[in-house]
Amino acid sequence: MMIKDFQERYAKRHELAREWKKDGKKIFGYFCGYAPEELIDAAGIIPVRILGSLDKVSLADSHLQSFICAFARSCLDQGLKGTYDYLDGMVTSKTCDIMRNMPGIWSRNIEVPFVGYIGAPAKRTKAARECLIEEYKILRSRLDEFIGKQIDDDSINRSIETYNESRKLLKELYEIRGEDNPPLSGSDFYHVVRAGFVTPKEEYNKMLSSLKSEMTPSKSSRDGKVRFLVSGSTFEDVNMLKMIEDAGGSIVADDLCIGSRYFWDLVEPASDPVRSLADRYQMRIACPCKHPSDERMERILEEVKKHRVQGVISIVQKYCDTHLFEYPYMRDILQKNGIPLLYLETEDRLGEEGQFKTRVQAFIEMLK
Ligand code: SF4
Repeated sequence: MMIKDFQERYAKRHELAREWKKDGKKIFGYFCGYAPEELIDAAGIIPVRILGSLDKVSLADSHLQSFICAFARSCLDQGLKGTYDYLDGMVTSKTCDIMRNMPGIWSRNIEVPFVGYIGAPAKRTKAARECLIEEYKILRSRLDEFIGKQIDDDSINRSIETYNESRKLLKELYEIRGEDNPPLSGSDFYHVVRAGFVTPKEEYNKMLSSLKSEMTPSKSSRDGKVRFLVSGSTFEDVNMLKMIEDAGGSIVADDLCIGSRYFWDLVEPASDPVRSLADRYQMRIACPCKHPSDERMERILEEVKKHRVQGVISIVQKYCDTHLFEYPYMRDILQKNGIPLLYLETEDRLGEEGQFKTRVQAFIEMLK
């Protein structure tokens, strides 16, 4: 299994989904890393993450203001253009303002038989946990109704096991990526993670195991590259990472919504699988739309130490209120700990590569 297989998997995701449909499978799209994929999977439905593209946004501009992040505009644009016409449903969880409103906007303009919205609380209190459990129970019974039979606990437990396996394998590859002279670059790892959003997890786990077994151990010598942790929201353009690597950087750790934040935490098995899922999704590394962010900051500091990170690069979608709101807090913590930080704001594919390159090169020079 090679990186190009993961790249192809992502590139052909819509074609593959249409094949699954022909085979009689049902497919649900979900937004963000807060939708409990395991519940959808346990219903015998394939969950795929709705992501944007590098195509020019045209149709979405009639529905979303120009001060909405490029990611959300691109996702809706893809939907309006019919790219996701194979979806039997969509599930989204309360995260940022735009994602809260997305199910309404999507379903008013794009035909989709099932729309699920999880009012996931932002806090981590006991009361918030009970609320999330109730939200999951509602989703579960709506899924029961949709598929015409009850999802049993064993099916949920099996899905939990499969998803946990996937997370463990990704974590192992994440650690390999953090080695000196790693056989897997930061941009390669991004391709690997992204393919998992659009591949049934059992098949994906085989791909991950095969990639891991074929990976030759790194030569232990240092490669002289500047070691970075990349933090931020989501972006479609892998060149953002490639450009850092081409300029002499090595991405050895991340705190990305489309990276380690997605797979870091496991679901702890318990007698009530819905409670276990609620535990995991409530206590997972918090995206900036959830509180408190102290643990995420602590994890960033730990990763910096563990992987001998020399600088942090924050890549944030322009107009992403949640990440932007939290940025000064992260900046102050990194400053207090003497960790250099570079801030890049992206609108995905708007010709920003040139100016980013200059800034990244200057940052690397400063750290050498
Ligand atoms: S990038 Fe930010 S604003 Fe856009 S969908 Fe994600 S969290 Fe919301």
